[in-house]
Amino acid sequence: MFNLSDLTTSYSPNWCPGCGNFPLWAAFKDAAVQNGWDNTNSVLVAGIGCHGHIVNFTKLTSFEGLHGRALPIATGIKIANPNLNVFVFTGDGDCLAEGGNHFIHTCRRNHDLTILLHDNGVYALTTGQTSPTSPKGYKSKSTPEGNVDEPLNPLAIAITAGATFVAREYAGNIKGLTEIITKANEHEGLAFVDILQPCFTFNKEFTHEFFRENCYYIGPDHDGTNRQSAYTKALEFGIKQIPLGIFYQVDKPSYESRPLIEHSTTPKNLEDLFKKYI
Ligand code: SF4
Repeated sequence: MFNLSDLTTSYSPNWCPGCGNFPLWAAFKDAAVQNGWDNTNSVLVAGIGCHGHIVNFTKLTSFEGLHGRALPIATGIKIANPNLNVFVFTGDGDCLAEGGNHFIHTCRRNHDLTILLHDNGVYALTTGQTSPTSPKGYKSKSTPEGNVDEPLNPLAIAITAGATFVAREYAGNIKGLTEIITKANEHEGLAFVDILQPCFTFNKEFTHEFFRENCYYIGPDHDGTNRQSAYTKALEFGIKQIPLGIFYQVDKPSYESRPLIEHSTTPKNLEDLFKKYI
């Protein structure tokens, strides 16, 4: 049994006051205490971005990867030890731009990981450039006349690519986010949570007020096992029209549970093979 103080490191968070990383961090730690995620059973992997600092402020075994490369690292850890809870913290740039190819194929293979997307719609660590989830027309240092591109929809991509648990929550709802993170971890297979997270300093559109005014929770009439319904729901995003909750969840064997993994991790004598090429 451990408590929140056991997760405290000697580093104080250097996120800006009001940053959405704070409640997300709080929700994860609450979930860790409630579920007993400690150094004997859990590993954190982060990419590069303001979100990545979370591994410095949370006293659990962790690895901060190169930009966009959190998922291959997490995949390797999970394959090496399928008994671990492996949590991936990634940003909208890290996951959908630099790491976009990894995201698609990690979903496709249904790896048994929990991906937590810190989605603030901006490259924040590099001081405010347009990211893959910035809205069309969004003005930033990189698009001073307004973003000409349509934003990517991370939920639709995850559902299409093969993730078997797809959800969205607003970072400001710590209790709700704690529950979603717990459910995502309990799910066997690729669990993806898009977390709407204000960047107080650089994104003046996706504020706490914006999300509070425009988000709503998916009702019980939504069939979360119906892929088409989930996809249709994922495409909703607008004024008074941002759904939160579990969009999609189905049972399907994870990559790590398939016999292929046992075969591939069995040591083999490759001496004869090497001799052919000497
Ligand atoms: Fe948070 Fe934005 Fe500050 Fe980064 S720049 S710490 S995302 S508020």
